[in-house]
Amino acid sequence: MKKIVVIFNGGTISMKVDPKIKAAVPSLTGEEIMHMVTGIEKHAEVKSYNFSSFPSPHMTMEKMMELRSFTLKIMEEENPDGVVITHGTDTLEETAFLFDLTIDTEIPIVFTGAMRSGSELGYDGPSNLAQSIVTASSKESRGRGVLVCLNGELNAAQEVTKTNSLSLNAFRTPSFGPLGIVDNNRVIYYRSNDVRQVEDIDVLETAVALVKTVAGMDSSYLKFLTDQGAKGIVIEAFGRGNVPPQMVEGIRYALSKGIHVVIVSRCYEGRVYGSYGYEGGGKHLRTMGVIFGDSLPGQKARIKLMVALSLYHRAEDVRDWFEKDLYMEDSEWSN
Ligand code: ASP
Repeated sequence: MKKIVVIFNGGTISMKVDPKIKAAVPSLTGEEIMHMVTGIEKHAEVKSYNFSSFPSPHMTMEKMMELRSFTLKIMEEENPDGVVITHGTDTLEETAFLFDLTIDTEIPIVFTGAMRSGSELGYDGPSNLAQSIVTASSKESRGRGVLVCLNGELNAAQEVTKTNSLSLNAFRTPSFGPLGIVDNNRVIYYRSNDVRQVEDIDVLETAVALVKTVAGMDSSYLKFLTDQGAKGIVIEAFGRGNVPPQMVEGIRYALSKGIHVVIVSRCYEGRVYGSYGYEGGGKHLRTMGVIFGDSLPGQKARIKLMVALSLYHRAEDVRDWFEKDLYMEDSEWSN
């Protein structure tokens, strides 16, 4: 029988509607949720721990790092075959990606949550938890990095994003689809995901901001962030990685102060690339010295830049690590 550790860490999965305010608040303990996962003892020996009961909009980078240390400590003490962590769905992808980038293990770590609270019809917490435990117990899940399991779909933390504010299948992988599914308590993978980057870090550089580009945007946010002491800035640019010409000055200013600038796309699918050479086009930004973030959404590129800046300081080193295996064009930085 496989030994699985479940770490309860809040989110809607541990919430019920408070009749006074008529809205969901944290109320279920880990033990109460586990009681609803009936029959799981036939699949795994489960040991539960409570880390927190907070909603995931209350998650901070400090708490993510505490959860990481807590998880590593329990993995060392319990030597489990797999780990399941509950998390509010709002920031789940950020914590899962941080774990994926910084925990070097073959042991499956599976994040799960719920889109409906314990008071709603169709509460999906117990089934998501059951399927996550089955996933964490499967030897097919080993060496796949951190996984996210909701609605019977298995996605890689590296690839997944929350795509819907209310539906049960909110967690999806744009462009490629899920890695696999859980069907009748069987874990089935349809494709591999073996290109991963993992680095052990103790302290996370958190001074990284995220800016979304909109039509007619100027350089004021970028200058503000630079003057406020940001170490890195992620820009969710248009399409292939282009910005309005009025933002170029702000990017140049940030780069001249040694700030690392990553460009990703505000599009839901597709990578950034140096396709356009006009002022503010991806090629122009590239020659100025920006890093390309492939198809990562801004919130995940921010996590990756934090990890990069915890490891490296020189612009070339940060870029080389960030863009490793991303098949980017050779840089012609002229800055
Ligand atoms: N707001 C909730 C949270 O992220 C949503 C959820 O858990 O599904 O904690």
